[in-house]
Amino acid sequence: MCTSTGLVLLSLCVAHVLLYWTAACLLLPRGVHVASIYAMHKHSAHRVLYNQLVVNLIFLGPIAPWLASSDMGTAWHVASLPAVLVLLEAAFYVAHRAMHAVPWLRRFHAVHHEWHKTLPFSALDCHPVEHVVCNLAPVVLGPVLLRWSLPHAAVLLGVATLNTVWAHRSGAEASHHSRHHLDPRGNYGISATTDRLFGTLLRVDTRE
Ligand SMILES: [Zn+2]
Ligand SMILES: [Zn+2]
Repeated sequence: MCTSTGLVLLSLCVAHVLLYWTAACLLLPRGVHVASIYAMHKHSAHRVLYNQLVVNLIFLGPIAPWLASSDMGTAWHVASLPAVLVLLEAAFYVAHRAMHAVPWLRRFHAVHHEWHKTLPFSALDCHPVEHVVCNLAPVVLGPVLLRWSLPHAAVLLGVATLNTVWAHRSGAEASHHSRHHLDPRGNYGISATTDRLFGTLLRVDTRE
């Protein structure tokens, strides 16, 4: 990897950290202070930072030069966006369902499921193996296969990050993913559509 690509990747990882923690703090319940949440969940916060600053760089380092070498234009990125999103949804569903179905993978996923009721910053609180398999690989699969550029892939990772923080926001017991934390027998996909397709959709009680 050349120096400029390495610096771009490092900058993107730092931007990813800032984006994640800003969104996580903004979505905290009213009256809850960041310092008190940090004091209560220090170990979880450190796991998130390890995933963001160490695992991200180790996993994305070898992929970044391939993305940086892309000379595809904006029109290609717009045209291939639906395919990238379908690949993301499919890969996440398969990876997440495998995390529940395969005993030795379930051990890794148990870390994330320590959160029965979620907080926004619990989105990336998981074992590094899960972070690679569920959070990073599904997002970069489409961009790698369809020759997306590094900045476009970084924007996709940023949007995916905001989406997962939103899915874990406080008081979201009625949301698709928060329902999964309360009852892990279904709702494995990012969207309800995939779960409906494969018969794993759990009813979300919107009265709560
Ligand atoms: Zn979760
Ligand atoms: Zn799960």
